[in-house]
Amino acid sequence: MTSDSSAQRKLFTDHPIWEEDDVRNGVIATVVLPEGVDMPLDYIVPNELVVEVEPGRRVHVPLGKSNRPRLAYCVAVRHGEIPQHPLKSVVGVEDEKPLLSERMLELTGWMADRWMARRGDVLEAVLPAGVRLRRRVKRVPVLVVTGEQGNRRPTVNQKKILDAAIQPIPLDELLKETGVSRSVVNRLLRTGLIMESGSIERQPESDSIKHSFCSDVLPVLSVDQEKALQAILYPLQHGTHETIVLFGVTGSGKTEVYLQAVTETIARGQQAIVLVPEISLTPQTCDRFRSRFGKVAVLHSHLTPAERHDHWREIAAGRVSVIVGARSAIFAPAPRLGLIVIDEEHENTFKQATSPRYHARDVAEWIAQKEGVPLVLGSATPSLETFARCMSGDWKMCRMPERVGGSELPAVVTVDLRDRKSRSKGAISPRLAAGIQWALNSGGQVMLLLNRRGFATHLQCKSCGHAMHCSQCDLGLTLHQPGSRGICHGCGLVTGVPESCPSCGVRDIVHRGTGTQRLEDQVRSQFRGIRVARMDTDTMRTRGSHEKTLTAFRKHEIDLLVGTQMIAKGLDFPNVMLVGVINADAALHLADFRASERTCQLVTQVAGRSGRGPRGGRVVVQTSTPEHPAIRSASTHDYEAFVRSELPIRKALLYPPFGSVIRIVVRSAVDEAAANWAKHLVERLSKSAQGDEAIRILGPAPAPISRIRDRYRWHLQIHGPSSELLRDLVGRSMAGLKTPQEVVWIVDVDPVEML
Ligand code: ADP
Ligand code: ZN
Repeated sequence: MTSDSSAQRKLFTDHPIWEEDDVRNGVIATVVLPEGVDMPLDYIVPNELVVEVEPGRRVHVPLGKSNRPRLAYCVAVRHGEIPQHPLKSVVGVEDEKPLLSERMLELTGWMADRWMARRGDVLEAVLPAGVRLRRRVKRVPVLVVTGEQGNRRPTVNQKKILDAAIQPIPLDELLKETGVSRSVVNRLLRTGLIMESGSIERQPESDSIKHSFCSDVLPVLSVDQEKALQAILYPLQHGTHETIVLFGVTGSGKTEVYLQAVTETIARGQQAIVLVPEISLTPQTCDRFRSRFGKVAVLHSHLTPAERHDHWREIAAGRVSVIVGARSAIFAPAPRLGLIVIDEEHENTFKQATSPRYHARDVAEWIAQKEGVPLVLGSATPSLETFARCMSGDWKMCRMPERVGGSELPAVVTVDLRDRKSRSKGAISPRLAAGIQWALNSGGQVMLLLNRRGFATHLQCKSCGHAMHCSQCDLGLTLHQPGSRGICHGCGLVTGVPESCPSCGVRDIVHRGTGTQRLEDQVRSQFRGIRVARMDTDTMRTRGSHEKTLTAFRKHEIDLLVGTQMIAKGLDFPNVMLVGVINADAALHLADFRASERTCQLVTQVAGRSGRGPRGGRVVVQTSTPEHPAIRSASTHDYEAFVRSELPIRKALLYPPFGSVIRIVVRSAVDEAAANWAKHLVERLSKSAQGDEAIRILGPAPAPISRIRDRYRWHLQIHGPSSELLRDLVGRSMAGLKTPQEVVWIVDVDPVEML
């Protein structure tokens, strides 16, 4: 931890508060502000606060000329030091206990360096808002009748309350049971006919920490599962760190291995953190953890700040052994951590898209190393970064190439969309239609993947070819039904479809391309009488809707499920006999060096949903490039073949995992301002990088999506052999830089998103 004292002095040249006693005492606290000034600042700790001011607690410090007190995180305390120049004093302490352990504080420092983020942003990201705001789950009063007789006969409503409160009853239940308003209760309280006999804690999300029956009978593991489990148990039992990658096809029993590793962790009196890409998309995984273990904290995005705070306290007190959650659950303050698992480790959701732009996999590795515990990464399609770490011998790879119970991986047919015979009027080729019919006739279920939501993917003037665009973004409008609305998928702007072309005035606007809505319509008319459901962000807006649809599908109340990539993730439905991929190339040609990898992962993952039951299954992949290695490997269930073909390409171009990337995005309401600033940044970078052959600077160029919400976007990329080198370059080049008012720019270290 360093603090730039000369820069700091400039902030405080006016009348510093200078306390003789404190100088002799020489206790100095380094603090970080959650917002604003982004360097650490030093303050004197006055005698009366010496006991309370400690790293991990928040303190109040005067700032600027006005000396307005601000809340700040104390990150370090130094003793016996005489400051080189006058310092102001800490004026108060906010928290009773440290919110962050020494380890977590160290982590925030590391993260700030690793992703070039403000330390304040990192501190705020690591602590849930409910903890910072000290929100606690509400206590509800419990009421009971006193036995007093009133002067008057009770009203009908009062009578209801008095009857219901014969036994002590929580206020909320009382109101619900009687349907009477709160004012009636208040009146009875005032007149002394009922009284408070205590209070209870209310957990609105009562199943978020759930006790349930623990099954003793564990399935007998297959040979591959057993090997993988042993690989995890060895470091677990020896208290050492190791990263173990479970590279197992869909249905190979990876989750069962995690469950048994967690069982052992709990038996040793330790805690386990399990990360999943997204809680709402992985209800089955969460349920399996819940039903196997007594107490599981499921940290999902619908929790209120108060509920999060409660979970946090339970975890910190060591009362919860298993924590399941998305990305940020990695910061769960587990004091007896024994194991970290990341399921579907290749998923992008593990990287945060806003500052701090951290990747949960890297954070997990840091924590696991420091704590000396095993880290388990599981996937049917590990990221190339992960593959490279295994090849270099850093990480251990356990292969699980077969499905549990010996069921075969489904046969995959590719349909070449360039072939005339394959074409059909709609999105479903004759081959795919035959496959759907076969599955339905056999009593099986069908999943169709189409990664474009909406009805039609673009709106175009037939006369001049003009495509309708969002007025605020550089994106085409998607047609949504009902109501013929044009919706922008960049900013959500909803507009009507113009009657005539804004460019040539001719009234001939047509819609083209198929989205999930149109596909659903088409399926309904082509396969009459079957039960169809659709899963995309349009149909899944309300809480619990994922679970509802997935449960209905599991119970076979739905025959065919149309969906975006939402349906591709870890679901296990034994009755699915056909999976259709409507257009496998959709994401193949995006301006992103990971486009092939993503495509191969998505197609492999969704194909893995088919044929999990005893009757087997098939997959039909529609594509215009069946010869592409990403499609070919996915169709032959040979992900490793894809890895073998892709790694040399990455190596030749020095793309990750063989090199590192930093992306800078500049935004402004004025296109020219964004362009100029991006150009200026490139000039600075080039100057600093002079003579270093290993560093390449690409750009500036308009970002692939060049405008969002009326903000023009320019970007540049810096490629080089290592992240350290690039971060150092960016740090040096940008030192002392004053950003013009009209631009905003961000640095994304190891980006996973290039649009
Ligand atoms: P993955 O996580 O690799 O997709 P799962 O752990 O979900 O695989 O296993 C697939 C299915 O097989 C699940 O229904 C699971 O309960 C079952 N299963 C896993 N391991 C075994 C085993 N050793 N014996 C019997 N069934 C198993
Ligand atoms: Zn828009």
